[in-house]
Amino acid sequence: MGIIERMRLDGKKIFVTGGARGIGKSVATAFAEAGADLAIVDLDIEEAEKTAAELEKAHKIKAIAIKADVTNPGDVDSMIHKILEVFGRLDVAFCNAGICLNVPAEEMTYEQWKKVIDINLTGVFLTAQAAGKVMLKQGGGSIINTASMSGHIVNVPQPQVSYNASKAGVIQLTKSLAVEWATRNVRVNSISPGYIGTELTLNSPSLQPLIQQWNEMAPLKRMGRPEELQSICVYLAGDTSSFTTGADFVIDGAFTCI
Ligand code: NAD
Repeated sequence: MGIIERMRLDGKKIFVTGGARGIGKSVATAFAEAGADLAIVDLDIEEAEKTAAELEKAHKIKAIAIKADVTNPGDVDSMIHKILEVFGRLDVAFCNAGICLNVPAEEMTYEQWKKVIDINLTGVFLTAQAAGKVMLKQGGGSIINTASMSGHIVNVPQPQVSYNASKAGVIQLTKSLAVEWATRNVRVNSISPGYIGTELTLNSPSLQPLIQQWNEMAPLKRMGRPEELQSICVYLAGDTSSFTTGADFVIDGAFTCI
């Protein structure tokens, strides 16, 4: 079998958190194109249902929508329960839900700090842990966590202390899980995107001056597109990446090189 065929994900059962829109939806679309069945997990159940229905129709796979808050252990348990009830197993987890907050460090409230860390770091831990428990029992699986280039560098000019700290945490969390589970065939990797133009960022009037500034700074002179994260995630989800674990993939058009 050729490499392209071996990279397909036919029959794999995958959940994508934050899958209703943006990067999560784009990567879920690639998983569906590659033949996987999907659970689209999001706080926004209406949008998640739309995404699941769209993917099911376009790619002749099974896709369900699940409402869950990744910071809530009860919701994460119910999510796993539902996935096992519908699909019977779990092969891949894309722990991707996250938020961003730009507040100067000296003005940040405890609640603001906690919200970002809860969603971006604790949420990734809870969903990766829940996925890992199923995969360890099954004898294998692949977990992909969304970090950010902000886990590597401090982007200016916007102040993002909690975001930067949360994403650096995701990179180290990923490596720790990869080492703990390496001999039990559960692989854990992260992606660190640079600036990606999603509906949310591109349509936000307040972000336009910042986007212009980022584009001027960027070696490629543009933001990335969500679909430019698809192939790395399909690779990490599939069996051809069997020697890849504990790695972080920076997909930022060389932004962190400057
Ligand atoms: P987005 O806002 O377009 O989508 C995020 C999705 O996550 C939304 O559908 C939202 O409802 C969901 N979500 C938020 N909190 C949740 C929670 N507690 N439980 C369940 N779902 C929740 O964002 P995006 O740009 O697609 O970002 C996705 C991930 O990529 C995030 O982790 C983000 O930090 C990371 N990232 C984004 C960029 C970028 O430039 N867009 C760059 C680097 C990393």
